[in-house]
Parts: sequence; structure tokens; C-alpha cells
Amino acid sequence: MTHHSETPAVTARRRRQALLVDQRWAANVIEVPGGCAFWVGAITTTGYGRFWRDGRAVATHREAWRRAHGDWPPPGTVVRHTCDETSCVRRDHLILGTAAQNTDDLMRRGRWAGPGRRGAGGDVRGPSGRARAIRAALLEHGPDLKVLSGVMAVGDPRRGQLPLPL
Ligand SMILES: [Zn+2]
Repeated sequence: MTHHSETPAVTARRRRQALLVDQRWAANVIEVPGGCAFWVGAITTTGYGRFWRDGRAVATHREAWRRAHGDWPPPGTVVRHTCDETSCVRRDHLILGTAAQNTDDLMRRGRWAGPGRRGAGGDVRGPSGRARAIRAALLEHGPDLKVLSGVMAVGDPRRGQLPLPL
């Protein structure tokens, strides 16, 4: 899109709107030192963050990719998490993959992944329950590693506990 014909007032308004989007984005991300950067805004039933921009909802890992690379992921590709935390938006935890790989991710997360798996794939609360529990802990305590590791451990199937009501 070219903006050559814009009046100064239109340019100023567009820049102000872009700044507001940036501020809204930043206000909903809490970065854990040395770890993930978690989205703490809206979270979908599949555990992904949801961000509104230009009048539509976008998945936050896709928005994070766009912010890191200046454009949306190419057609036919999907953005995957190397950390297996669906609500993570840290740019170096995001890689491009194929739709088939992403289906594998979803299938794996939808099943009992069994012990030994970290991240949302092995969480008895499911990806959404896990992401919401992480969000609640971060909003209440900030990026406190001790609190966060406790919240993550609650969903570990090896603990033999019932899923938390969320
Ligand atoms: Zn991550």
C-alpha cells in the first residue's frame, strides 16, 4: 500500500493508530527472563492468544511472526512453536512449518501425550487450560519463575492430580 497521496493529517492519524496497536500488543505480553514471552490477553479454546488488529482477530503467534519479519507467514506455511507453549509470542521460539506438521502438533496436543513431555502437549489441562493458568499466574505475580514452574507442574501427568477447574 502506498501512502504518497496522504495529507499530513491522515499520515499522523495512521501513525498514531499504529502506535496504539503497538502499545496494546506490548501491554499484553509478559516475558519470562530466559524463557517464553507469554500472551496474557485473550486466549482461544485451543490455547492460542488472540489479538485484534485492523478490525479482525489474529492469532498472536502469527502476529508475532509478522512483527519479527515485517510480513505475514507465506501462503501454505504455518507458524509453529519450538517451546510447545501455544500462547508464547517470543520471536525466536517461532518457526515456519507446513500445515501437515501443524496438524501433527494439534493431534499430539489433543491426546494424552504422556510423561516426559514438557509444554502444552503434556499438560492434563489441555493447551487452553495451561495457557490460561500461566496467564493468571503472570498477571497476579509477574514473571516469577518459582510461581510459574509451580503452575506448569500442576498440569504434569506424572503428578497424578486432577485437572484444575479453570
Ligand atoms: Zn516460547
